[in-house]
Amino acid sequence: MNSLVPDFNISSHNIFLEMLPIPFFLIKCGVNKIFSRENVFLSTVLKRDFLYLERHLFCDNTLGNELSNIFLECYTTEFPEKLEIVLYDDELNLKTLCMTLSKFMFGDINMIFVNVIDISAYEKLQSHSSKLISEVKDLEHELRSSKLLIDKYIPISSTDLDGTIIECNEAFCNLTGYDKGELIGKKHNLLKDQETVPFVYEDFWKVITNNQTYIGELKNRKKDGSTFWVKTRVHPKYAKDGTKIGYIALREDITNRKNLEEEVFVDSLTKVFKRDKFNDFLAKEIAEFHRYSKVSSLILCDIDHFKNVNDKYGHLVGDEILIDVTNEIKNSLRESDVLARWGGEEFVILLPNTSEKNALNVANKIVKNIAKKRFDTVGKITLSCGVSEVSPKDTLNIWFKRVDDALYQAKDSGRNRAVYR
Ligand code: GH3
Ligand code: MG
Ligand code: MG
Repeated sequence: MNSLVPDFNISSHNIFLEMLPIPFFLIKCGVNKIFSRENVFLSTVLKRDFLYLERHLFCDNTLGNELSNIFLECYTTEFPEKLEIVLYDDELNLKTLCMTLSKFMFGDINMIFVNVIDISAYEKLQSHSSKLISEVKDLEHELRSSKLLIDKYIPISSTDLDGTIIECNEAFCNLTGYDKGELIGKKHNLLKDQETVPFVYEDFWKVITNNQTYIGELKNRKKDGSTFWVKTRVHPKYAKDGTKIGYIALREDITNRKNLEEEVFVDSLTKVFKRDKFNDFLAKEIAEFHRYSKVSSLILCDIDHFKNVNDKYGHLVGDEILIDVTNEIKNSLRESDVLARWGGEEFVILLPNTSEKNALNVANKIVKNIAKKRFDTVGKITLSCGVSEVSPKDTLNIWFKRVDDALYQAKDSGRNRAVYR
């Protein structure tokens, strides 16, 4: 017989077997069942790519013994068609090899053909992807818990382009006192505080229609009519194809801080800023003038002979007059102007982007309106104003001294008038 693997000695070359470009080995299962180098033919490719396997196979270690047992028993016991073994190569890299076993008879000799494939990369990939899957699951869990927390504590609503609420969460309902059903389909201005000046909302719409993020502090009204303050961030919302479909608003309840600020910065009688807060605005305005040459003006108002009002009608009536005068002054101002109670019966107004000429017009208007008005109980009162535009060498004190001098001059020259310096 012309044997394919005649004596199965490694030394006996068989050109056909040598030429097969497959990593495999052939085992001749002898009668005496000895798994030895002489009974195994290793292909050229196997010797090239899996030299470390050869060493393991014929070594008296656990793996070598285990494999030789499997090979030797394969004709008598359950025969595994596939074996996956893990071992270290010569560089101590962990390798996973997959062996496909097929047995056949060669003449009357039992033979096993073992094809070897290195699946380490696949194994690595699989362990990597299962690690990824577990990470994604962890993330999903984390997201779900975060979403629960967000829903509970961060008021969020989303609207269409017109500001109609299309979705909102539990925290938003808790904050506003409305049920979800009462909010969906309504415009956000359901929550609007009527006292908030229109300028605030104009600015808001200007920013968001320009596709920018609006960040601002807004005063809103709850269902029960009470007010609350929120720091609001409004982001544009886009569909997958990039078209803008609405807005998403995140809020932080800042009512407590605002109430505290109000106590510190706002005069309790007239509800306009106190002197300290006004000084902050003034300092900012001077800085902007020096940096950008942004002109602005100051008006200082003082009620004429106010002491007489108190003396004649009492302090409570005097207080009422202070409130009425404040409101009268407000009527003559723009939303960007800042009004504060400087002290006693004196008020100060900062008019940004306003020249001396225009500020004097405003002051004259205030003087005229007060003189025209009939005040309850007291009847007629008058007021005097000093006016001054910011100038290059000004500090806060120099500018203020000039407007104070102007007021003094208005008083000195007969009261019920405005004077510019
Ligand atoms: P002039 O025209 O020179 O300004 O005279 P005036 O009487 O207004 O000025 P003066 O500074 O002599 O008096 C201011 C008065 O304003 C004295 C004070 O009783 C009164 N005043 C200050 N703060 C309050 C307040 O909170 N409530 C009331 N009712 N009166 C106040
Ligand atoms: Mg005074
Ligand atoms: Mg006075």
